[in-house]
Amino acid sequence: MLNEKYRTITEIHDAFDAKKLSPVELARDTLAAIKASKHNAFLLALEDRAMAAAKKADRILAENGKVPRETYPLLGIPLALKDNMVLEGVRTTCASKMLENYVPPYTGTAVERLEKAGAVFVGKTNLDEFAMGGSNENSAFGPVEHPTFPGYVPGGSSGGSATAVKAGFCVAALGSDTGGSIRQPASYCGVVGLKPSYGRVSRYGLVAFASSLDQIGPFANSVEDAATVLAVMGGHDPLDSTSSERPADPYVANLKKDLDWSKIRVGIPKEYFIDGVDVSVKKSVRETIDWVAKQGAKIVDISLPNTPYAVSVYYIVAVSEASSNLARFDGVRFGVRPPDAMQVEDIADFYKKVRANFGPEVKRRIILGTFALSSGYYDAYFRKACQVRRLIKNDFDRVFKDCDVILGPVAPSTAFKKGEKASDPLKMYLNDILTIPCNLAGLPGMSVPCGKDEKGLPIGIQVIAPQFRDDVVLKVGHAIEKGMTK
Ligand code: GLN
Repeated sequence: MLNEKYRTITEIHDAFDAKKLSPVELARDTLAAIKASKHNAFLLALEDRAMAAAKKADRILAENGKVPRETYPLLGIPLALKDNMVLEGVRTTCASKMLENYVPPYTGTAVERLEKAGAVFVGKTNLDEFAMGGSNENSAFGPVEHPTFPGYVPGGSSGGSATAVKAGFCVAALGSDTGGSIRQPASYCGVVGLKPSYGRVSRYGLVAFASSLDQIGPFANSVEDAATVLAVMGGHDPLDSTSSERPADPYVANLKKDLDWSKIRVGIPKEYFIDGVDVSVKKSVRETIDWVAKQGAKIVDISLPNTPYAVSVYYIVAVSEASSNLARFDGVRFGVRPPDAMQVEDIADFYKKVRANFGPEVKRRIILGTFALSSGYYDAYFRKACQVRRLIKNDFDRVFKDCDVILGPVAPSTAFKKGEKASDPLKMYLNDILTIPCNLAGLPGMSVPCGKDEKGLPIGIQVIAPQFRDDVVLKVGHAIEKGMTK
């Protein structure tokens, strides 16, 4: 377990430099803590891989005397990854019975780049099955416990990664965000969670859910650490045709200078403060905005009028793409074949047996998506959803003429109790209203802790900027983080 003194990359590197701690010691402690933990945040501890990486980090440290931070910005740093990203030779389940025994033959680009920078991957984290969900109750391997409030959900679908960072099992963790799965659990658990711009981080090695929405991003205890992880893993990758050729910005160096708030116009969308948003969430976010105004920022009231349609659009686009992406899990190309799968009359029966491996939420989405894409309904649902998606994007393009960044809540409420929404999928879907628009428009968004509700549950503020202005999101988020923890 990470001790309170060693929560960020800089704290750990300083301890390495001062010989108070070594990468091997840290990896050993972390692995032991993961194995003893009761959160169910991990589906697998990566003992051999982590110890080998930690030993290598020890050697590099011994050769250099101090951490060579330029070449190895993540030397000896324990990281975790959501179990929908592949590592060569390591089981990847997507928290599904369907992939219970799947061992991929390659490693994804993001992870490969982080390992080259010295990172020590200690485990694969739990998630909602195939990243479909918002509470981590949809995992075939059991729900994840909230890191500080037992009985509460950590959020989802990357709840395992959020819990792992908050509870001190790693310094940063990778998640994937299709409709909010990084920002929402970050907000619920009280950590930083960044969904980069669409195209910023290669998705090579991420099991696809909805390809026009998915992005990989970091959870961390500080905005600076999130920036470090993004700087290492971001940038063009020829193996992902949707990754942008635009070079990554110097995200970390940018944070060294203080932000000049007087140059920043902050947009506050009225649609993000509607009745369904909890009073405590509104209050905390408003207080943060007041603080931002006091620093000299110009506050601009804006309107994103198509926000009310975001949930409907998302739950057509995402399920349609999912139904197509998940067609590969058929027991022939990918997916577990139950023992009796071959004792069938015909191919339809075979599919039925194999695809029974999916859990109820995944099945629901495949059925909805297949329906929305079927020839008789395509125009009424999928095409229409794509058109409204464009209107949502146009809303953002328009308001970004008047502001540089948008601030608002991440989720309508704080973390809820396990079981509270599990039986009502619609309730769960509506909870995504404030995170989904970013995905539909390809924008970067980040959750930064900004307060607590009356029970003490964490609240995050969402920072949104135009596509590829991840640098702005980080810069503004960093300034808020510093201001709010003063
Ligand atoms: N909660 C959303 C969903 O269930 C978001 C999921 C995600 O971002 N992976 O689809």
